[in-house]
Amino acid sequence: MTIHNSTSELIGGTPLVRLNHVTDGVRATIAVKVEYFNPGGSSKDRIAERIIDAAERSGELQPGGVIVEPTSGNTGVGLAMVAQQRGYRTIFTLPDKVSEAKRAVLRAYGAEVIVTPTDAGPDDPRSYYQVAERLAKAIPGGWRPNQYSNPNGPLSHYHTTGPEIWQATDHKVTHFVAGIGTGGTISGTGRYLKEVSGGAVQIVGADPQGSIYSDPTDVHQYDIEGVGEDFYPKAFDRELPDEIVQVTDAEAFEMTRRLAAEEGLLVGGSSGMAVVSALHYAREHNLDEHQLVVVLLPDSGRGYMEKIFNDDWMRAHGYGDVVERTTRPSLAQ
Ligand code: PMP
Repeated sequence: MTIHNSTSELIGGTPLVRLNHVTDGVRATIAVKVEYFNPGGSSKDRIAERIIDAAERSGELQPGGVIVEPTSGNTGVGLAMVAQQRGYRTIFTLPDKVSEAKRAVLRAYGAEVIVTPTDAGPDDPRSYYQVAERLAKAIPGGWRPNQYSNPNGPLSHYHTTGPEIWQATDHKVTHFVAGIGTGGTISGTGRYLKEVSGGAVQIVGADPQGSIYSDPTDVHQYDIEGVGEDFYPKAFDRELPDEIVQVTDAEAFEMTRRLAAEEGLLVGGSSGMAVVSALHYAREHNLDEHQLVVVLLPDSGRGYMEKIFNDDWMRAHGYGDVVERTTRPSLAQ
């Protein structure tokens, strides 16, 4: 009998899949690591489990404790899923720009959701960061995981994502490509792959145009979610990437739609971005058939049906040409 004790046991061990149709002329093998196979639907399940384990060991999180974090998406799901199994309350603060659908997902996992004004900046006491800080201090047993500075985020990828890629490729991986949000994925996985290969595996960061990582002189708003920043988090080891490739929102969204329509991979916008970076890099560096590039796809496209996969939203946000290029003509005229 194979019966798992809880969904926590299903975290990690995600598959690698070769890309066949969107690689247009690239000779290297491009394999994607599909993180939506995690039980909470994203790579963030990995960090949630290790962050909670470590806090239990250190005593920061006590039985019956309350996990408080400013997060709107995947990290909240991962934390709520692991926390409910162990009897912890979760409270997430999020700005009111976050869609009702995302709030509903967090509540469905048993979390409490506190909505704060989006226009309150990080220094404003009403901001979602500050509200979380105050609640964590005020509530007995309150504890903040702080994914941007918690070393257990990158460590979870060092101990799971990195070894999984090394083993699944029979040690043949030559490049690893991942987006940078907190930096945990690229730092932990990258450090493992560098160490185990004696520095041979090249680590490539993928970054939205407007984020600090690829161009600190031109930081501005962009539409891709979950990646890029306007500051350097502690979880990101800036020495690690050998190169960081910048991608526009339009390129990322076009690839995201192509991955669903041509590769059977319904993934989020940061996944499309990472694949675009990998293909740019492969062309730029003339990678040949001896190279094996692994690209991490953090989450599922289900959370983006109202945006990237909604033609009206896409047109209203200036991506009409992307819609035209990725929509097959309807048979019903
Ligand atoms: N893509 C998505 C959709 C995410 O939610 C995140 C996490 N913020 C990332 C990519 C980046 O991962 P990391 O924080 O490990 O850099």
